[in-house]
Order: sequence, then structure tokens, then C-alpha cells
Amino acid sequence: MDGGTLVVIEGPRFPARAESRWFSANGWSAVGMAGHPEAVLAGELGLCYTSLALVTDHGAGVWSGDGVTCAEVLEVFVGNADRLRTVLFKALESLPAERDCVCSHTLDGVTVGLPGVLGG
Ligand SMILES: [Zn+2]
Repeated sequence: MDGGTLVVIEGPRFPARAESRWFSANGWSAVGMAGHPEAVLAGELGLCYTSLALVTDHGAGVWSGDGVTCAEVLEVFVGNADRLRTVLFKALESLPAERDCVCSHTLDGVTVGLPGVLGG
């Protein structure tokens, strides 16, 4: 999958079938348990952030059958561990020595604190 919308739910748990149907009906493409609030906090700190998701099942959009089991999810996860490791190391190697992106400027012009408190 290249691109899409990640729905973040509190876990650890699998979404209920009704949730999966709702997510899919709205065009949201993946469900995970991480990404929020990490993405928001990284943005507030001016850090670069991206997620690397390992899809373990096709829960969203599944309209019949028995769903997915923990054993099936773990089997896929373990089966993709080498691929995940390879992608992660290639990503780390490709990081530039100097950042040239908008992430570090997200707080430019923002005043933090209340007037008269903490220097505001
Ligand atoms: Zn960045």
C-alpha cells in the first residue's frame, strides 16, 4: 500500500467488525495502535516524523468469515521481521546529515505560554 489514512485505536486490541466496516466505508485504509499522539508530539517539538507500519491482516474491509486470530497476526509479523529490518536500516542510511524540511519550522512564530507567565 502506498499512501492512505491510518486510523489509530487504543490497544492492544483488534477493532470490532462494526468498527472495521465503518473505517472501510469511510475510505480509511489501515488500522493501528500507534501513531497518535506520537505524530502530534513530534510536530509540536519540530521533529521529523513518519510511521513505518507492518500490515498483519486485512481486518478493515473484511465482511465475512471468522476474522483474524492472534496466532495469524504473529505469524505474519514474524514472517515480515527481516523485511522490516531491511527497510528500517535503508531508511536510516538515507537520512541526510542536515535537515532541509519544514518540520523544524513548525513552531516558528508561535508564542508558548500565557501573558505574564513563563515569559509570555
Ligand atoms: Zn522533516
